[in-house]
Amino acid sequence: DFKSRVTVVGSGNWGSVAAKLIASNALKLPSFHDEVRMWVFEEVLPNGEKLTDVINKTNENVKYLPGIKLGRNVVADPDLENAVKEANMLVFVTPHQFMGGICKKLKGKVTGEVEAISLVKGMEVKKEGPCMISSLISKELGINSCVLMGANIANEIAVEKFSEATVGYRESREIADTWVQLFSTPYFMVTPVHDVEGVELCGTLKNVVAIAAGFVDGLDMGNNTKAAIMRIGLREMRALSKLLFPSVKDSTFFESCGVADVITTCLGGRNRRVAEAFAQRGGKRSFDELEAEMLQGQKLQGVSTAREVYEVLNHCGWLEMFPLFSTVHQICTGRLKPEAIVHYRDHKA
Ligand code: NAD
Ligand code: 13P
Repeated sequence: DFKSRVTVVGSGNWGSVAAKLIASNALKLPSFHDEVRMWVFEEVLPNGEKLTDVINKTNENVKYLPGIKLGRNVVADPDLENAVKEANMLVFVTPHQFMGGICKKLKGKVTGEVEAISLVKGMEVKKEGPCMISSLISKELGINSCVLMGANIANEIAVEKFSEATVGYRESREIADTWVQLFSTPYFMVTPVHDVEGVELCGTLKNVVAIAAGFVDGLDMGNNTKAAIMRIGLREMRALSKLLFPSVKDSTFFESCGVADVITTCLGGRNRRVAEAFAQRGGKRSFDELEAEMLQGQKLQGVSTAREVYEVLNHCGWLEMFPLFSTVHQICTGRLKPEAIVHYRDHKA
């Protein structure tokens, strides 16, 4: 009987947790091979050992998810091509800025009946306009890609605290159901939604809202202000998603990928935390410096997404319709002070 082989492309904080979830299910489900490959962007640790070797020896990603066993059936592999070679199910989960390069390397190397899912929150902006990461995967590799997004702070799922997630799919409900089966555990409840663009734009745009929430926290503006920012942010998320893809459904914003992810990221995410520090220092330290200092190699997505969104809004003549999104970018670049996060009135979005 045919058994699916899964490879996880990425091994950061969320990538490692995704590998853990998948590995526990691959062992239980007869339709999957036990072994789950995980591509690791190789690096040398301070003690001189290679991260891949340490993961395979200790079964822990000591740099990006210390203290958590991934499952003995997770095999770390530093060779991207080799890692995907035999897999028919590919899970992409890296910071979004690396996905262009990864797809280029894999172009022409993924053959046969292969399905993908993207857990990457972010997009690329090309001359023709925005390109969501699932579309990048589909275009570059010639394979279908679902997405999985949700209120999913990785460290909480790593210790098996209950959360929900949303799988967005384009055509085949059957394939979406296979992904739901591969990710679901008693503490991770996954719902399929027929709206791949809506789900992916929720996951992408909420990172900009999280930066705004961090500014509010850094300036001690209080709970009402933060709730207002979350509401306005959600409204801009919906408006922009529908302008870009008229098929996007209102109901998607009530799934885990929508309102729930806005809430959790604005309460406990990395984007929020670093933006708080940025505002506390009056914008005098750059996001790049703060990211390097505070996140030990983990990557923010909100600052670059704010820039990418700004490029799209500017290009389309929509800046005035999205005051929150455009203000966040201007604060990040130093053109406006963090206080400007509440200095607008005519938000029509
Ligand atoms: P991370 O923030 O931990 O990033 C570090 C990873 O980037 C490491 O694996 C590192 O090896 C890799 N990396 C560094 N330089 C690289 C390069 N040049 N090429 C390729 N890889 C390189 O990553 P993460 O937390 O796994 O996030 C991946 C995606 O998942 C992001 O889009 C993020 O928004 C999303 N996400 C994260 C969380 C979370 O709580 N961490 C939750 C949900 C979704
Ligand atoms: P941060 O990257 O801001 O930590 O957000 C993680 C996330 O996407 C939670 O769903």
